[in-house]
Amino acid sequence: CVGAAVIVRERMKSSSKWGKALAILKEFEEKCATPESRLRQVADAMTVEMHAGLASENGSKLKMLISYVDNLPNGDEDGVYYALDLGGTNFRVLRVQLGGKEKGIVHQEFAEASIPADLMVGSAEGLFDYIAAELARFIAEEEEKFHQPPGRNRELGFTFSFPVMQTSISSGSLIRWTKGFSIDELVGQDVVAELTKAMHRKGADIRVTALVNDTIGTLAGGRYTRDDVSIAVILGTGTNAAYVERAQAIPKWHGPLPKSGDMVINMEWGNFRSSHLPLTEYDHAMDAESLNPGEQIFEKIMGGMYLGEILRRVLLRMAEEAALFGDVVPNKLKIPFVLRTPEMSAMHHDTSSDLRVVGEKLKKILEVPSTSLKVRRVVVELCNIVATRGARLAAAGILGILKKTGKDTLKDGTPERTVIAMDGGLYEHYTEHRKCLENTLKELLGDEVSPHVEMIHSNDGSGIGAALLAASHSEYLKSSS
Ligand code: BGC
Ligand code: MG
Repeated sequence: CVGAAVIVRERMKSSSKWGKALAILKEFEEKCATPESRLRQVADAMTVEMHAGLASENGSKLKMLISYVDNLPNGDEDGVYYALDLGGTNFRVLRVQLGGKEKGIVHQEFAEASIPADLMVGSAEGLFDYIAAELARFIAEEEEKFHQPPGRNRELGFTFSFPVMQTSISSGSLIRWTKGFSIDELVGQDVVAELTKAMHRKGADIRVTALVNDTIGTLAGGRYTRDDVSIAVILGTGTNAAYVERAQAIPKWHGPLPKSGDMVINMEWGNFRSSHLPLTEYDHAMDAESLNPGEQIFEKIMGGMYLGEILRRVLLRMAEEAALFGDVVPNKLKIPFVLRTPEMSAMHHDTSSDLRVVGEKLKKILEVPSTSLKVRRVVVELCNIVATRGARLAAAGILGILKKTGKDTLKDGTPERTVIAMDGGLYEHYTEHRKCLENTLKELLGDEVSPHVEMIHSNDGSGIGAALLAASHSEYLKSSS
């Protein structure tokens, strides 16, 4: 995932316009560069911020949020649980039937719906009523299907993928919105209380027994299948990581020492920033015009919500200053977020000799009637630069966690295994990105350590994980035992 640039540049005879286009390309590439030395600086900065965030509230840009999860699933979980997963472009409701150690996940069902764009920036009631109504319908349908008598003690794990200051395993207030959501009146509110009110309004009779971030859910889901999972990373619309920390290494934790000795931490690494991050004028402009300027800087160079938008911004400059798409600048290219990351990924993966897919996408999205092969090559190269920077920085972030937990080296020659549960659309669907991430992590860890660190795709881990955590924190079981 390094240096594909040469191909394009060599083939281009420079008319003055081309010369300008190539100059913009070259400058962008240089500004995005992530040599190993820089990645190590980023990893070290991440480790430093982790310490600072654990030391005190507001000690760092990294919130290092306490999840109140001190025990991850071990397989004993038993019964029927629901989960609700909200946090990106879609939300899902799940029903999971757990059968303890012997049977594991006996059955699961889910339904998915997209969140209408106006609800993401509307009112608290609007958003939660919509979700609660879907949930109520899902529960009714499921129970009819499974012939369940009404009036059971239903329990729900709520995956809410935004920064939340938890006050217990089943309550917490929203710190701020990310990823294109912006509903001011909910900031500072207990999201479980708000959801519960909406569920009453919509007739969903169910109790929230676990409130979790998607990284925590993914960690729990991963641990359920593999007991050596200790880190979870989401690379989707947004990005974040969680890991198992020793409770004693958390100075800001004043609660009782958990029996396990552990506490899972939601890092909220999307808000990480450091002078070592390779930021360009396009990133600064995108940030300034965003719903949350100055925040989520790491996320804005890595998250699926933003990669396509960065590409659009570079293309726009090339269109304006170097007539990349001819004498007129395509109007469509001026629309923020018109170029989505899945489209960028499709162009990046185009293996046809004439880059047909790139041509088709540009035609469809930007309404440019035709493009030459060399223009298409420039586009692919830009995709590569943007994706490579994001993937390599994600690897640096992971190295930061491994360093903090002492897993970046081998202890006394005993090979301790570290498994990282990964999830998110970017990781799942953007193959070049994933390959680059994996290669970079290998490069950073070296030949000795890298065989002991493994990434697994925890498919839908966050939803199932929330159901598992609802099971292990079941109020019903607690009160009946
Ligand atoms: C949120 C995190 C979340 C991540 C991935 C970020 O924008 O702040 O809480 O885990 O996206 O969904
Ligand atoms: Mg998700």
